[in-house]
Amino acid sequence: MSSQAWINLAYLTASMLFIVAFKQMSGPRTAVRGNLLGAAGMAIAILAACFEQPVVASIGRHGIWPLLLLGLFAAAGGGIGATMARRWPMTGMPQMVALLNGFGGAASMLVAAAELTSTRAVARFAEGPSQAQAAASLDPWTQFAVAIGLACLIGSVTLTGSLVAFGKLQELPQFKKPWMNPNRHWINLGLAVAAVLLLWGVFSTSQLLFFMLLVVVAATLGATLTLPIGGADMPVVICLLNSYSGLAAAAAGFVIDNSVLVIAGSLVGASGLILTAIMCRAMNRSLTGVLFGGLGTTASVAADDVYEGKIKAAETEELAMVLEQADRVVIVPGYGLAVAQAQHAVRELSDVLEARGTTVEYAIHPVAGRMPGHMNVLLAEADIPYEKLREMDDINPTFPETDVAIVIGANDVVNPSARTDPSSPIAGMPILDVDKAQTVIVVKRSLSPGFAGIPNPLFAADNTLMYFADGKKALIDLTAAIAQA
Ligand code: NDP
Repeated sequence: MSSQAWINLAYLTASMLFIVAFKQMSGPRTAVRGNLLGAAGMAIAILAACFEQPVVASIGRHGIWPLLLLGLFAAAGGGIGATMARRWPMTGMPQMVALLNGFGGAASMLVAAAELTSTRAVARFAEGPSQAQAAASLDPWTQFAVAIGLACLIGSVTLTGSLVAFGKLQELPQFKKPWMNPNRHWINLGLAVAAVLLLWGVFSTSQLLFFMLLVVVAATLGATLTLPIGGADMPVVICLLNSYSGLAAAAAGFVIDNSVLVIAGSLVGASGLILTAIMCRAMNRSLTGVLFGGLGTTASVAADDVYEGKIKAAETEELAMVLEQADRVVIVPGYGLAVAQAQHAVRELSDVLEARGTTVEYAIHPVAGRMPGHMNVLLAEADIPYEKLREMDDINPTFPETDVAIVIGANDVVNPSARTDPSSPIAGMPILDVDKAQTVIVVKRSLSPGFAGIPNPLFAADNTLMYFADGKKALIDLTAAIAQA
């Protein structure tokens, strides 16, 4: 068997591992194994790429140095990735994903730049499409030219879009206020038209100048498209940028004729698009509304008007008594549960309540936390049985028959203004209807707003008791008080 056949076989194995990994990552029980399989597939793909003809030829020309340099870069990249993954706090994972999406886009753009300046590309462009090739629907020359332009365009948009998303998720002060320039749609349209013209310039001339201008215009477009997007719409944007990073990688795969990169990029691109559609549905938003509407951007009501004189703060003993009398309790986890790392404490509270004969379930909102599936991952870490986690549409009708709903570090996903105030930045977003429960206990440290930056009338409702404390400490104290009763 030729060496190329071995390489292709390795790529096929890697692609199959990616597909199985995706399947396994769709369930919390198999997700860890899926992740490891995906990493193994990537290791095989990288190793096989080292035996590709251009790499071997380069070693023939320059000796072992290119390979050593390659190994050094791979070790440095792998080392940085492993350290980031170990050190980065669980609550900061979405920011890390945003950064990785951006790096993926940048890598694709750089691959296209390197290939554009290579002698192979110069020869291909000088030759242009032959008569016979031009007659075919997509000849190799066109494929190459289109792929270079698209890798550059999508890669650059992904890079800056993801950096802006990182800033918003990290809640950096510069990104806190969405950019709401009234002319932003015209600016974006102008940039999009300029990008298309420059793309055409790259196709037809292969000039590096057009490529570099395309990088600048596309990178600006990535930032101006993401900057106006408000807090509550960020989940959709993150999924979309994830998809873009896959599409840019697939384009880069066509640039360097690498089948495994095309397959892996297409998988990420397609799964990101599916996730985007799921998130849009979960948020009751259209994609165009998110991208161009500028929804979810400004607070419409002052906090004092909502809270003044209406907040009822309760102490541990009082709340323990309320819980002791409940037959059915629904726990609503949110981002604050992840910040407090209270997943084990919440499990202990459930155990104590269940030992007294109380039914305990968990209500999971699709955008609770800061990344898709955040709450599922967190609760699975504490071995909370998956059957007890109920999705929003499934559990919402049961809130009127719920004695106590305990909201732990959740805010936007239980904010009734989404239902009642059409001018609210989260208007129309489906929420968990906890306000319909007999009693609501809200555990948080203060009256600070959530990610969307707006007040929450739930905290001032007649049936709500506020428990101002760190999530973990509050749960440990409550569990101890109930256990002693
Ligand atoms: P929110 O961000 O709305 O609210 C979190 C609350 O947790 C805060 O009000 C905070 O109040 C409280 N909190 C923080 N730390 C602690 C602690 N140690 N103990 C107790 N409470 C704490 O969270 P939700 O989960 O309700 O909503 C998620 C939001 O994030 C939505 O707006 C969503 O659009 C957005 N988002 C979601 C993404 C996703 O994919 N899931 C991605 C990006 C954004 P206090 O400081 O007073 O304690």
